[in-house]
Amino acid sequence: MAKLLKEELVPPNSGSSFVVKKGQRIRIEGYTTCDFVVFNLDQLWERFDQARTKANLVKVYVTTGDPLFSKINNIMMTIVEDTYKGKHDLQYGMCSRTKRDVDWARRDTPAIQYWFKEWGITKREDMPMHGCYENIMAGVRDYPVLPIDIPSPLNLFQYMDIQPDGRMIDRRHEFRPEPGKPAHVDFRAEMNCLVGLSACPETNMKGQAVHVYVFDE
Ligand SMILES: [Zn+2]
Repeated sequence: MAKLLKEELVPPNSGSSFVVKKGQRIRIEGYTTCDFVVFNLDQLWERFDQARTKANLVKVYVTTGDPLFSKINNIMMTIVEDTYKGKHDLQYGMCSRTKRDVDWARRDTPAIQYWFKEWGITKREDMPMHGCYENIMAGVRDYPVLPIDIPSPLNLFQYMDIQPDGRMIDRRHEFRPEPGKPAHVDFRAEMNCLVGLSACPETNMKGQAVHVYVFDE
């Protein structure tokens, strides 16, 4: 029986960090997007890499059994359980204040018009004033990690369906876990890890809290 070492509820649009030693397991439980990044606790410059993970696995979505690779191709963590019915995003970056400012500045372009219509955005204030980048920055503030060194994340519970023409369709709403029945993903640490995460506000500010558990195995 695994022993619970730590439990934390990360409030909407905020971030936190967790030490997960080699062999320990972290569970991320939620309903809405959670941006998830990993650093090697023993050498913080080594960090999770979206591109290396996709290239090494030769696929663009990860689930149970899949490892997460660092920039230098070391396995940092392995997904050992995944109850989400959709697929976790490995394309999209991280939301931030500047990302929303840029979206707003580009509101007349077709791609952004599509998203804004989808999300009911009619003014800048309809979008969050800060996001996952700032949240993770705050989450790892006790470690010597420069904001510029925060890697692109694994976006848990964020199904971005890739169309044959290359466009991404947001299918999150179709795959939301039912109230009272959150989805969870468990990661086993394959090295000593520092996990940074953010309970994403999502574009329409409906992002919910994320429940995090660390187990000894
Ligand atoms: Zn976000």
